[in-house]
Amino acid sequence: MNHEFRNKSTEAEAGRNGAAEPTQDGIMQPVRGEAAGSAHPGAAIPVYDGAEIGPIRPPSEATSLMLRVTRNCPWNKCKFCTLYKGTSFSIRRREHVIQDIDDIAHFVGKLREIEELAPTRRSAAFSSLRAEMERPENIRAAESALHWYSYGLKSVFLQDANTMLTKTDDLLAILHHLKKRFPHIERITSYARSATILSKSDADLALLRAAGLDRVHIGMESASDNVLDFMRKGATKQIHIDAGLKIKHAGMELSEYYIIGLGGAELSDEHALESADALNHIDPDFIRIRTLSVPGRAPLAEDVRSGKFTQINDVRGAAELYKLLEALDVTSYVLANDHIVNLLPEASGTYPEDKERMLAAVRWFLELSPEDQTVYRVGRRMAVMSGRADMENPDTVASVKRLIAENGIDSANVDERIRGLMRKFI
Ligand code: SF4
Repeated sequence: MNHEFRNKSTEAEAGRNGAAEPTQDGIMQPVRGEAAGSAHPGAAIPVYDGAEIGPIRPPSEATSLMLRVTRNCPWNKCKFCTLYKGTSFSIRRREHVIQDIDDIAHFVGKLREIEELAPTRRSAAFSSLRAEMERPENIRAAESALHWYSYGLKSVFLQDANTMLTKTDDLLAILHHLKKRFPHIERITSYARSATILSKSDADLALLRAAGLDRVHIGMESASDNVLDFMRKGATKQIHIDAGLKIKHAGMELSEYYIIGLGGAELSDEHALESADALNHIDPDFIRIRTLSVPGRAPLAEDVRSGKFTQINDVRGAAELYKLLEALDVTSYVLANDHIVNLLPEASGTYPEDKERMLAAVRWFLELSPEDQTVYRVGRRMAVMSGRADMENPDTVASVKRLIAENGIDSANVDERIRGLMRKFI
């Protein structure tokens, strides 16, 4: 996966790519409890073993409660994604998810009680609660409650990669229980695959919306059929369009992801233009830009080594982004600033009013001299720069030039060195 943050709990958690958000370098949360596939008929009934937290979330869900409804990814074939490789998909038992909610509600209730005490009594009360929170069977529910409580208990993210595969009745029961325990929740969101959305009826989606599911994140990644086929995404342009429209028809907000570079040098233009065309049909609420990074363990890395796939560099990636932005005719909010893998965070804004400004932000980079492009690329990837103003600051530029010299970066190795830096973000 290329578009999320690891969860707060594992950083204390890790997700697909971002900037003003918590860390991106967490590790996968070891998951205890039910065996993979345990929801299948005939399987041994799994024992509840405490609340679970999945490995990732969208950047916009940094302050949300992570509620794990399913584990891992049922598709798990995308060539560029390493997130769930070696794992099996399973659907958690409805009763276990509801137990998670109850356990979290218990600790939220305790935290509220402590807050209502006189300040002089809070410390002792929290010490006694801590002993209960630190019991192994409670620790994840307690951590979740503490994190969520500290951010105001506003939003919930249903994990993992494709919660919508859960039977509608089970998902409705979970949503109803969540709302019953926490009536003040302002937003509930989830990831979903386009093909799965198409397997749900309009009536089911309407029920889920009415039960509180407000927003769905779909990893479109591309709408070029050639790119989707090569990457084994398990979707076509038409599937993406139909699924996106179906979500919107159900009254949910929709967030679609696009990955710069996913077409490689071979299909870069087609990737941008076909994706823009699909997005124009869908007109999602959010378009989230990500940039391809290929970890050595990704199946795509073998295609890179064999020459079947040619990675584009940042300059070509900026040209691809320009093509996408130029062809977009939407009313969406386009975000290139919610993940550190993106080179040009200033190319973010609301269409159509910010379109020209966003294009200008990309043109600015494309019109830099090759030497200045290298300075900005290294500065951005070393988290020293985030836009034009940094390149106009002589001290910042001088410090990046020092980093370039100290790290032996030159025009011959800059692409590879940048890729190495980016792999650290995934
Ligand atoms: S659908 Fe593809 S990109 Fe998303 S988690 Fe599964 S394998 Fe990864």
